[in-house]
Amino acid sequence: MTAIQRYGREQPGFQKRVAASVEQMRAAAAAHPGSIVLATSLGAEDMVLTDMVARHLLPIALGSIDTGALHAQTQALRERAERHFGLSIETFRPHAHTVIEFVREHGNEAMYRSVELRRACCALRKLEPLSRLLEGRSAWITGLRREQSPARATAQSVEFDDQGRAKFSPLLEWSLADVWHYIERHEVPHNPLHDDFHPSIGCAPCTRAVAWGEDERSGRWWWEQAGAKECGLHVKDSAATWTTSA
Ligand code: SF4
Repeated sequence: MTAIQRYGREQPGFQKRVAASVEQMRAAAAAHPGSIVLATSLGAEDMVLTDMVARHLLPIALGSIDTGALHAQTQALRERAERHFGLSIETFRPHAHTVIEFVREHGNEAMYRSVELRRACCALRKLEPLSRLLEGRSAWITGLRREQSPARATAQSVEFDDQGRAKFSPLLEWSLADVWHYIERHEVPHNPLHDDFHPSIGCAPCTRAVAWGEDERSGRWWWEQAGAKECGLHVKDSAATWTTSA
């Protein structure tokens, strides 16, 4: 059973949510001309947003982070998406020397040993490249949805990050069913790992399949307590410019 078959169905108000999301992105692009970027993890939600950018010719740049630890399927999707949409996705990678030094000192499986080491890995592989992705931008767009996790339940559709940039989340009120219904309806390319019970996909060492009924982000950092899963990109934290979670 594919992810579309598993999750996708039209729910009441779907068309209105689509229209509202497109309108929010259009307004955001108008308010931040030449200075707004969609930070895509190439996950299902971000593929929906990328489709909207392409379909409605929205003047929004596309940027993604290649942590150096992504699945081959995610890497392949980046190229497939560029061909499908006819758009370029600028890719930001961690500085090689920081990764080499970290692995030399802590090993390849440091993330499993403590929350601190896992966050340190996220900081150098994700957060530092993200800071370059956002450099010079006054706004960014994310595919956060309120129902993804308790940490996202109280998010707002427009927030301001610690750098004062506007952060728009046009899919905040969407359900998982909405996402996959949109993907089916518009034949949006998606990561085949989603079909293989990976509703949320991050780095290969930190992502696994989930069982029926499990929380959709339970396959991420599964060895940590839920409260520790502040991995970084989307939660404000006094100790870090960006805390985690793509
Ligand atoms: Fe490192 Fe895992 Fe974070 Fe990826 S998700 S940056 S591999 S700790």
